[in-house]
Amino acid sequence: MAFKDIKGHSLQISVLQRILQTKRVAGAYLFSGPTAVGKFLTAVNFAKAIQCINQTDDCCQRCHNCLAIERRNHPDVYIVDKQAEEIDTTEYPIPETETQKKAISVGSKSKEIKIEEIRQLQQELSYKPTKSCYKVVIINDAHNLNSDAANAFLKTLEEPPGYSVIILVTDKKNLLYPTIISRCKLLKFSGVNTALIEDILAKQQDLSQEARRYLAYFYEGSLGKAVRENSEQLLTEKKRVINLFFVQRFPNTEQTFLQDKERFIRSICFISLFLRDLYFLKAELPPSTIADSENLPLLESLAKDFSLEKIERIMYVLKEALLYTEQNVNLKLLLNMVLSEIRS
Ligand SMILES: [Zn+2]
Repeated sequence: MAFKDIKGHSLQISVLQRILQTKRVAGAYLFSGPTAVGKFLTAVNFAKAIQCINQTDDCCQRCHNCLAIERRNHPDVYIVDKQAEEIDTTEYPIPETETQKKAISVGSKSKEIKIEEIRQLQQELSYKPTKSCYKVVIINDAHNLNSDAANAFLKTLEEPPGYSVIILVTDKKNLLYPTIISRCKLLKFSGVNTALIEDILAKQQDLSQEARRYLAYFYEGSLGKAVRENSEQLLTEKKRVINLFFVQRFPNTEQTFLQDKERFIRSICFISLFLRDLYFLKAELPPSTIADSENLPLLESLAKDFSLEKIERIMYVLKEALLYTEQNVNLKLLLNMVLSEIRS
């Protein structure tokens, strides 16, 4: 894969290509933006373009540097990526060398990036590059640096070797130390547009046009999620949640609903998108703005029971619930909070 194959992010890629063309590669970058939109993929391709021996502002995908980075066994590219096992292996081949395996899998059971991993990284960085002029380090989910690791890493950012290029990737920039952020050139990413996601879903999955449209909205510009998640399963789950909350009209809570945090978060997202549609319908916006057109009859039947103010209020509570879920607040408590708002 090369820059030219990445979907979306043309602005960010053109910035990186300009940097490569003018040979003004900085010592540290921070790629930030929503989850799974292609930040890490862009970082890996930036590393390839930096190391490529045939091309200046992209990668040729044929030279030994491009191929080794693709296989994750380039001696001058060091990647810390705890998500490695979840990543599509057709795009990210499994690492082959012991060093690269170590780099990717150290502590992979926990998301936390520990000081030992940073020390290992610093040791790697202390050796001069062997196959190129630069040594590139990519840290995916850099917000998971624990405080000891972040402090140790700060020293590297303060006095980096002249040949190093460090790329931090995060979807939670606010969790990074400001001292780390201030030492990096920031490149902000946004979600991929829904039409592009619909297009990609059309090529990859056997889904109706309505379903593709819904999923494109549901994934909120996250192409990675659209490609990786099981859409059929997600649509079935959406049906069940909407039925539970808006057709059965709040029966006693199903225990399954509270079984795990991920499921709870997804359910909150289904409800939010449903209410967004209800809001748009009531505000008489064009039908093209409705994400879930299959649910139009249900939305129309509910329109009279929900004022715009009530929808706004519930959406506010849903947002709060998502925030509290991150902080591990009791799910049942949060669910009751949402239900009481819907019932009011
Ligand atoms: Zn190349």
